[in-house]
Amino acid sequence: MSTDFSNKGIRTQAIHAGEGHETGSHSSAPDLVMSSTFRVNREISFSANNLDSDAPYVYTRWANPTTDQLEDKLATLEQAEDCIAFASGMAATTGLLLGYLSRGDHLIICETNYPGTAELARHTLPRFDIDVTVVDTSDPANVGNALRDETRMIWLETPSNPLLNIADIAAIAEIGREHGALVVVDSTFATPIATRPLKLGADLVVHSLTKYIGGHGDAMGGSICGATELLAPLRTEALSHLGGVISPFNAWLIMRGMATLPIRMREHAANAIAVAKYLENHPRVESVIYPGLESHPQHELAAKQMDNFSGMLSFRVANSKDVARRMMSDFEVIHYAVSLGHHRSLMYLLRTEDLAETSYGLEGAGLEKYRSVAGDGLFRFSVGLEDPEDICADLDRVL
Ligand SMILES: *Cc1c(COP(=O)(O)O)cnc(C)c1O
Repeated sequence: MSTDFSNKGIRTQAIHAGEGHETGSHSSAPDLVMSSTFRVNREISFSANNLDSDAPYVYTRWANPTTDQLEDKLATLEQAEDCIAFASGMAATTGLLLGYLSRGDHLIICETNYPGTAELARHTLPRFDIDVTVVDTSDPANVGNALRDETRMIWLETPSNPLLNIADIAAIAEIGREHGALVVVDSTFATPIATRPLKLGADLVVHSLTKYIGGHGDAMGGSICGATELLAPLRTEALSHLGGVISPFNAWLIMRGMATLPIRMREHAANAIAVAKYLENHPRVESVIYPGLESHPQHELAAKQMDNFSGMLSFRVANSKDVARRMMSDFEVIHYAVSLGHHRSLMYLLRTEDLAETSYGLEGAGLEKYRSVAGDGLFRFSVGLEDPEDICADLDRVL
C-alpha cells in the first residue's frame, strides 16, 4: 500500500496518489511491470477465488503491481474504497452488468447514452433473460415509475452522450436505496474533477479511461470504483473470468495522463465555454448544447452537481452531411474522428438515423422526441486544449 493521500487536494492526489509502491528500485516515477507471471516462493492456491488482498502477485490477470497503482490513484480521486481497472470502458461495463445481473433481474437505464452500452443493454442482456426498461433519467420521477420488485440496478450516464442530459444523482440514488437497487453512474464525461457520484449516494462509478482520464488518445482502459464489498465479487468474475484485463503498459500510460487531469479539465472547460459561445452566435448554427451555458435546460442542476462543466458539447446545423464532408477535408486543427476527452479536439457527426436504428431502437414518439433536440444529427464536439482562436477559425472554415 502507498501513502494515504485522501486528505490532500485533488491536484496533489492526481499526481501522487497510488504511486510509490515500494519495489526496491527507489524510482520517482512508477515502475512499469510487464511480467505476466511472478515467481512464487510460498504455497498458494491455484484459484483467483482463494486469493486474499495481501497475497503475493501470481498472474497479471489477477493482479499486477503497475495496475494496482492506477487503481489506487483512481480510487483516491473518486473518494472510493476500491477500484478495478479493465481493458476498456466496455470491458468494465460488461463486467459490471454480467457480474451483478442474473436471469429474471430488471435493469433501468437511461434512454440515450454511450452507444456501446445502449446496444449491450438492448441486444445482449435480453438474451440472458434480463429485462431492460429505458427511461428519460433527466427526471428522477421516471426512474421511480419504472421500478419493479425485480429491479436490481439503475444505470445512469451524466452528462449523457450525445444530448448532454444531466441525471440528478442524489435524487436517483435515494430512489435506488429505498428500493434496494444498485445505482451505477457512467461518469466518463464528468470525470472525478467535476463530479464524485459516490459522495452523492451512488453505489458504483464507471469510467472509460480512454477518454479524459488517460487524456492523450494513446491508451484504452476502463474502471469501476466503489465499496470493497461490492467490488470483491467483480474482481474474480468480471476480471479474472471474463478476462478483460488492462495491459500494465496502458495502466502506466493512463496513470501518467492522470497526473494533469485537474489542470486539463480546467482548460477543457474554459475552451468549451468559449467555443460554445462562439457557436451560439454563429448564424449557421441552429442550436448548441453545453451544460455550462445558461440556455441548457438543466444548467442549474449541472451547476449544483458539477464542479467543472467538462469539454463536451453538441451542436446542430442545416445540411449536416455536407458540413461533415467539409470537416473531413478542411479542418487544420480539429480531427474529424470518434472518441473524446483528448488534448486534441475531436469532432464527429452522430446521425439520428444511425443512432435511432442501431443503438437506441427509437420509433414513434420516442424518435420524434429525440429528433426535436437532435434534428437529423448532432455534431459531438470534444473541445481540446488548442488555442480557442485556432479552434474557432477551423469551425469558421467549414460552417
Ligand atoms: C467511450 C465510452 C465508453 C466505452 O469506453 P471504451 O474505452 O471505448 O470501451 C463508455 N461510456 C462512455 C460515456 C464513453 O464515452
